[in-house]
Parts: sequence; structure tokens; C-alpha cells
Amino acid sequence: MKGGKIIIQPKACLGSFVCLMICLIAGPILAQDTIRCQLSDGFDFPVGKPSGNGYYKFRGYQPNGHLGEDWNGRGGGDSDLGSPIYATARGVVVISENIGAGWGNCIVVRHAYRDETGKIAIVDSQYGHLHQRIGRVGLVVEKGQLIGTMGSNNGMYAVHLHFEMRKNLRIGMNRGQFARDNTNYYSPTDFINKHRVLQTSFQKYPIPMRLFSPYGYSFADARSDGVSSIQVPVLPTIKPSISLPAAGPADDDEDFWAKLRTRLKQAKVIEGTQPPK
Ligand SMILES: [Zn+2]
Repeated sequence: MKGGKIIIQPKACLGSFVCLMICLIAGPILAQDTIRCQLSDGFDFPVGKPSGNGYYKFRGYQPNGHLGEDWNGRGGGDSDLGSPIYATARGVVVISENIGAGWGNCIVVRHAYRDETGKIAIVDSQYGHLHQRIGRVGLVVEKGQLIGTMGSNNGMYAVHLHFEMRKNLRIGMNRGQFARDNTNYYSPTDFINKHRVLQTSFQKYPIPMRLFSPYGYSFADARSDGVSSIQVPVLPTIKPSISLPAAGPADDDEDFWAKLRTRLKQAKVIEGTQPPK
């Protein structure tokens, strides 16, 4: 420490500051593979919380048909426009985007929970045709928290909520690539009714954020109602603009999933959340 002087160079300082700010702002969004979240303490219905009061299921879950449930308000017509949509359970928002096509505004929330055997599983809930989305990707939401309002996808449908529960975490907005049956989906009502109250703790678990098949090339399943004949070659809202693989998951997804499985092993995670094929 000869001389003992510490010289601060303004340029380096400014550069470091800029880097720091970029890391602080973009880091949590871009760099995080996982977001820590406590286990869900139970699942409620996404409308008329907690049990769907004031709403009815206009259309149910049907494997190889309608892969979710359509919920309407009992008021009739489009009186349910703007009705509150709630997170079915505690979890992390992993998709919040206007997908366009037959979907419109969509939110997907990912939930870790302790199942009936005591093991930890992960499930996605999906909310489609929203009038408004409330909540960005990465937000941790609580059961019953407002995440959107009921919509019609710009008048494409009578106002309703399309609601799915997925076992397979890779589906995202790419249903066309996955078997349309109970291997990948739950009946939402059955799932909720079986998981109304769950054991939880203060411990947080790393919830994976990026497991979805990239979308932008498979739109045979562009409509939520199971009609697969509509072809949508290009969707204006689709990201990314970079070239996408012809098929299959990106390699880094495989690495990521493998790492996550190792990390979650101590918590005895089960494959209710199927690994990539
Ligand atoms: Zn539907």
C-alpha cells in the first residue's frame, strides 16, 4: 500500500454504475431460471372465489377435445365482462402476454405443492381470453390474488374464462405439440377439489421459469376451444423474432431441467411435472 492513495477513475466508475444498474434492472428478469416461492396451501376456483360462487361451467374438460373449462357469470350475456379472475393458488407468473389468435391475453401461473403422498409436485394453471392481465412474469401471487379480468378476446367469443390445469410444464402456449389428454392435463375442477387444503411451510422452493417449448411455428392449435382446423401462419404479437428450431426443445432447456431436478431432489420432487421428452 505504498502511497496509500486510492484513485477513483470517473469513467470506470460510471461504467461500473451503468453495469450495476443494468444487472439490477434486467438481471432478475433475464437471468433468473428459477424464482423462489413457498408451496401452495391449497387451490381455489379462479372465479367467484373461493368456490366459483356466482359462476357456472359453460363447458367442461374433455380429453382430446376441450382441454380446459369455460367459466361464465350467472348474470347472462356479457355481464361478466371485466369480472375478476384470481390465481387458483400461490405460485409464480410464468407467462403474461397477449398471444393473439384464438387466445388473446393469457396468464400462466406455476404452482409447487405437496401432494397427497407428501412429495412436491409442480402444476401450471392457465387463464385465457382475459380482458386485462394483471401481473408480469416473475410475480409471486397468492391464492385468490387478482391476476386479470374476464374478457372475450376482442369479441371473438362470448365473454368467459378459459381455464386449464397442466401437468406438463413445457406446454406454455404450444398445446399443438403435446398429447391432448390426461397425460398432460388435469380436469381443473377435479384437481381443485382434490387439493383445496394442502400442507405448506415457510420454506421456499426454486420454481423453474423457462421450460416452454418455443412458440411461433406450431399454430394448428391456435384456438382454445379444441377446434384445430384454423391455421394461423404468423401472429403479429409473437416473440422472439429470432429463428426458431424446426421442432423440439432447446438444448439449454434440457440442461436447465436436469439441474433443477438435481436441486429439487432433496425435496423429493415427483414428476407430476414431466421432464422434457
Ligand atoms: Zn375454452
